Amino acid sequence: MNLNNCVLQIPNMNGRTIMEEVLRSLLTENIVSGEKLSQMLGVSRTAVWKQVTALRERGFNIEAVGRQGYRLVSSPDLMLSPLIENGLNTEWAGKHIICFESIDSTNRVLRQKAQQGAEHGTVVLADEQTGGRGRRGRGWLTPKGSAIAMSLLLRPEMHPSRVPILSLGTSVAVAKGISAVTGLPVQIKWPNDIVCSGKKLCGILLEMDANEQHVESVVAGAGINVHQKEFPDEISATATSLDLLTGKTVSRTEIIKAVLRAAEETEQMIRNGTLMETYCSMSATIGRAVSVQAVGETFTGHAESIHPDGVLVVRTESGELREVMAGDVSVRGLMGYV
Ligand code: ATP
Repeated sequence: MNLNNCVLQIPNMNGRTIMEEVLRSLLTENIVSGEKLSQMLGVSRTAVWKQVTALRERGFNIEAVGRQGYRLVSSPDLMLSPLIENGLNTEWAGKHIICFESIDSTNRVLRQKAQQGAEHGTVVLADEQTGGRGRRGRGWLTPKGSAIAMSLLLRPEMHPSRVPILSLGTSVAVAKGISAVTGLPVQIKWPNDIVCSGKKLCGILLEMDANEQHVESVVAGAGINVHQKEFPDEISATATSLDLLTGKTVSRTEIIKAVLRAAEETEQMIRNGTLMETYCSMSATIGRAVSVQAVGETFTGHAESIHPDGVLVVRTESGELREVMAGDVSVRGLMGYV
C-alpha cells in the first residue's frame, strides 16, 4: 500500500481528509507555515510536506516562501470540496459537499444519503459519472475531467403535487449560474434542458422520495458540459459545452458555486411567486413551432405558454389547445433541436 495515499484518504474527525484540510488552510491564508499546519492537524511536519507534494502532483502550484511556509499560487479545475466551499457564501446550498473522482450516478448516491438523514442543501459532485441517467431511462454522458455531475438535496415544505415547480426552479438556477460566470445567453428548452446557440449544454433530472401527503426529499441532479471539445456521433449535432461556446476554459468550480448561489435565489422566487415569470423569460420553447414526441404519438404545433404548474400548452395545426406534461414527452423545434 502506498503510505502517501493512505494519509490522503484517511478522514479526520470532521470526515475530511488531511489533504483537504491542508488545502483549506492554503486557500484561506496567504502564507501558512508547515509548523502551524502540523499543530492544527495533529500530524508531523513530514506528513504535512507529503500532503503538499501530493497537492502539487495533482496540479496545485504551491510556492515555498523562504522560511515562512507555503503559499498557494494557483489551483487546477478539480472537484474538491475545499475549492467549492472557498468563497461560496451561501446559507444552505452546499453547506455539506461530498466529491467523488468517479461514481455511477450522483443522484443515486445522494438519494441514499438522503435516506440516511443527509440535510437540506447537501451536494454530491463527481469528476466522472459512469452511469448518468436522463429522463425516461435515457443515459447522460459525463466524461472524466470535462463536465460537472452535481446533485443537490432539497427537503421542501410542500405538497408532492407542487414538486414539478422544483424542476423548473432547478433549470432557472443552473441557467442563471451559467450566465453569471460566462455571460452566455443561455435559455431553457421545456421542461428543463439548458441550451445555447440551439444546442444542449445541460440536462436535469429530479427524483423524489415522498408519500401521498409529504415530500421526504428531492434530489435535483444536473449534468453540465464544460470542457468537452467533441461529442460522440449520436449527440454531436445537439450537444455543446461551455468551452466551445465561450472559446475559453471555463472553471467548473466557479460554475458550481454560481449554480448553488442561484439555487438560493430560486428558492426565494418560489416563495414569493416570481419563479414562473423568470422561467418564461428564459424559455427557448414558448413562441416556437414544436414537434411533441409522446409514446405512440407525435404532433406538431405552436408552443403558446407554460402553466404555473409547468404544463406546456401547444396549439395544434387544427387550432386545438393541448396540454403537455413533462415526463412522458420530448419536445423538438421544427427547425432544429430547440
Ligand atoms: P431531449 O429533448 O434532448 O431528448 P430529454 O429531456 O428527453 O431531452 P434528457 O433526459 O435530458 O433527455 O437527456 C438524455 C439525452 O440527452 C440522451 O438520450 C442523449 O441523447 C442526450 N445526451 C446524453 N449525454 C449528453 C451530454 N453530455 N450532452 C448533451 N446531450 C447529452
